[in-house]
Amino acid sequence: MAQMYFYYSAMNAGKSTTLLQSSFNYQERGMTPVIFTAALDDRYGVGKVSSRIGLQSDAHLYRSDTDLYFEIAALHEVEQRHCILVDECQFLTREQVYQLTEVVDKLRIPVLCYGLRTDFLGELFEGSKYLLSWADKLVELKTICHCGRKANMVIRTDEHGNAIAEGAQVDIGGNDRYVSVCRQHYKEAMGK
Ligand SMILES: [Zn+2]
Repeated sequence: MAQMYFYYSAMNAGKSTTLLQSSFNYQERGMTPVIFTAALDDRYGVGKVSSRIGLQSDAHLYRSDTDLYFEIAALHEVEQRHCILVDECQFLTREQVYQLTEVVDKLRIPVLCYGLRTDFLGELFEGSKYLLSWADKLVELKTICHCGRKANMVIRTDEHGNAIAEGAQVDIGGNDRYVSVCRQHYKEAMGK
């Protein structure tokens, strides 16, 4: 029975590494996975998922207006696909999360989504909100704060390393200025 999985974490918990390992596992068994990533993440060039430990794979890009059910059904018709892997899934729209549930329920293909739960203000991303609501399985990928506790929050810092408390939810290419921290250190950094 195909299911939808949401693998969520703070920054730098190894989401892309985990995704690429899953892709490898499917291929090793002679199966064909399909990888999608958000078009707005161009850190490593268009159409690639790259992990910090050096793994890399080509990926289909999705934009906010991409019909993922339509695209995946078309690919599946040409050649059977055994698994859909979605990186940066926090950027999915509500509609696209619904489309992915249709991939699971109608096409019977498992969908594994990897992304952040909340933004630097501690608010849910749209994609994450609906994945938390509709996914069959929720799996937390853990990373740690500088103090050793589990890091479940993300702070955005300016060039001096000070936490900033306003701004757009998506700051493309500013990956180096995000730090994963525990909730206590998040509150301290945000002055709350
Ligand atoms: Zn801490």
